[in-house]
Amino acid sequence: MKADWRETTSIQRAQSGPTGPTILIANGFTLMDLLWTPWRYAYVTSADGAARPGVPPALAAWPGDTGCVFCNLRAAVDYAIEHGMSADEAEAAGGLVKRGKHCFICLNAYPYTSGHVMVMPYAHLDRLTALPTETAHELIDLAQMTEQALERLYRPHGLNFGMNLGQAAGAGVAGHLHLHAMPRWVGDTSFITTVAETRVLPEDLATTWKRMREAFAELKS
Ligand SMILES: [Zn+2]
Repeated sequence: MKADWRETTSIQRAQSGPTGPTILIANGFTLMDLLWTPWRYAYVTSADGAARPGVPPALAAWPGDTGCVFCNLRAAVDYAIEHGMSADEAEAAGGLVKRGKHCFICLNAYPYTSGHVMVMPYAHLDRLTALPTETAHELIDLAQMTEQALERLYRPHGLNFGMNLGQAAGAGVAGHLHLHAMPRWVGDTSFITTVAETRVLPEDLATTWKRMREAFAELKS
């Protein structure tokens, strides 16, 4: 398992003007950006130049490489299933929690909070307007299910749903549109006080996958 973003985030302190308060800058973004647009950071380390990004070690038998972390992920999962791995095992390895007809939901490998998932089309498309109508509608259907699942599982005070279209907007994977969803709690930004330290998420990805999988199974699709 890779380190989460906090361990790969460079934090700097800067003075806001000669007498101003100290501000924190993470990977070049101010902490304010970080608090309000957490999805900007969600895949900040995914474009790490690794060979075949998105292919989990357990699914490395898939021989291809699309160059896209999400297309690779899905292809590797499908390949494993076609070659005899159980769907549960393959989808757990890939963090894929729910499949629709045109879109799917997977865990974010670098979660900002527990329960951080992404809804995206199977098709490698980078704009909402590029999505066929059925795909766009299903994206929202799955977002609604995600909202229900996250509320049931995590009892959050609120939720972030966010989408960055294009690199300039902060997309870590600019070519393949994806909607981030995550539960939020009042005070969950208290890492300000411990920002330079490793923050341990209360749940590992395998546990999140299992809980999300069960929650989606219980929802009517
Ligand atoms: Zn793709």
